[in-house]
Amino acid sequence: MNGFSKYYQKDRQTRLNILVEQQKLSSAEVEKLAQAELDFELGDTMIENYLTQYQLPEGLALNYVIDGKEYLIPMVTEEPSVIAAASHGAQLVKKSGGFKAQVKERLMIGQIVLEQVSDAPTLAKKIKQQQDKLLTLANEAHPSIVSRGGGARELNVRILAPDMLSVDLVVDVKEAMGANMLNTMLEACAKYLEEELAVEVLLSILSNYATRCLVKVTCELPVENLTKGEISGAKIAQKIASASRLAQLDPYRATTHNKGIMNGIDAVVIASGNDWRAVEAGAHAYAARDEQYRGLSTWKLKGGKLCGELELPLPLATVGGSVSIVPLVKINQRLLELEDAKELEKIVAAVGLGQNLAALYALVTDGIQKGHMKLQLKSLAVSIGAKPQEVSQVVEKILAKKARDSATAQQILAEIRG
Ligand code: NDP
Repeated sequence: MNGFSKYYQKDRQTRLNILVEQQKLSSAEVEKLAQAELDFELGDTMIENYLTQYQLPEGLALNYVIDGKEYLIPMVTEEPSVIAAASHGAQLVKKSGGFKAQVKERLMIGQIVLEQVSDAPTLAKKIKQQQDKLLTLANEAHPSIVSRGGGARELNVRILAPDMLSVDLVVDVKEAMGANMLNTMLEACAKYLEEELAVEVLLSILSNYATRCLVKVTCELPVENLTKGEISGAKIAQKIASASRLAQLDPYRATTHNKGIMNGIDAVVIASGNDWRAVEAGAHAYAARDEQYRGLSTWKLKGGKLCGELELPLPLATVGGSVSIVPLVKINQRLLELEDAKELEKIVAAVGLGQNLAALYALVTDGIQKGHMKLQLKSLAVSIGAKPQEVSQVVEKILAKKARDSATAQQILAEIRG
């Protein structure tokens, strides 16, 4: 496209001016883009062709008690009702003693994939015999992680096809997510394998299928704590357990079940400055670990209690990447009163399970729309131009109508304005 040559070399004002010159945006629109609070240097360090700062709302989820400690949890999301639901789910669990969470290990896996292999089993054995040498090479490539008590721990070889195998390096990355760290280690090992064993390396990179970085969170609710008006807690618990079974049986439902879980998880992952695409990719792969995509959480009735469980890979960091440079992340870490990455992983998993409980509770009682509707209508009112003082009037009036669409909302707004 004309005018955008060497765009990355221009300063921000020039980049913005080009948008006006090329008639892509008006001066008034560009003026809005120029109002970003994020410093140009920082923005341009974080991404390429930086223009402005895209803002998302941040709010607090309440009522989260995990292993006896209560948290205030910052969540960043554009979706109405996510934070309300997360807090509601946590309130039900808090009344029943809170969440329990476990992180067994916190190791990341990276792969060096070899292709054009002629005798995969023999090569796999040869590489495995060189484990100590390869672990030493990996640690020498990133010595600072060793001095922090981490480093390369294991090397495994998987035969993917008769002519292809994956050399998996397992690394303790301490407080980091470890992508760059692992990539450096993998490249050092790949070079050695090429030189010493004359193998053909296809690629070397971290795997986002972080199966050695699993978090499990559980909770148990006496069924009577689930009672809603006339509907008994036992009935609601039975329906939630059935909805959970459904998500194990049917990928169509499992996908939506997991989307609800990720509503909570992503919002905290973003607030903590972590890579939510990495978390999403790993979570969905884990949901399909037995070759059918299933719900990540389960809810079962056991002796008068509804028992919930969620296990997933959560490679989260308290340092590195954008965690260490985005100013708001530091404040969010203070709100969370975090000790380390393991604690962050437990919090995020608990929000996933709390979010899921609230969604299932709403689905099997009122249906999801009742709770959502008022919040969605508020967004609709704002989207058609209602001022803050007009929003609640538009919402009240549109609730009485059959058609709750933007044309109706505009008509109501026009009536209010007389
Ligand atoms: P960094 O490259 O920022 O590395 C983290 C660094 O933090 C370490 O190298 C270490 O450097 C320093 N550090 C300080 N204190 C500690 C501590 N207690 N424990 C561990 N490290 C510490 O980040 P990562 O390697 O974690 O990579 C994450 C980034 O990579 C994310 O931004 C992600 O989006 C991106 N990424 C993701 C990919 C994927 O998911 N597939 C692929 C490529 C990139 P030192 O010891 O020198 O101080």
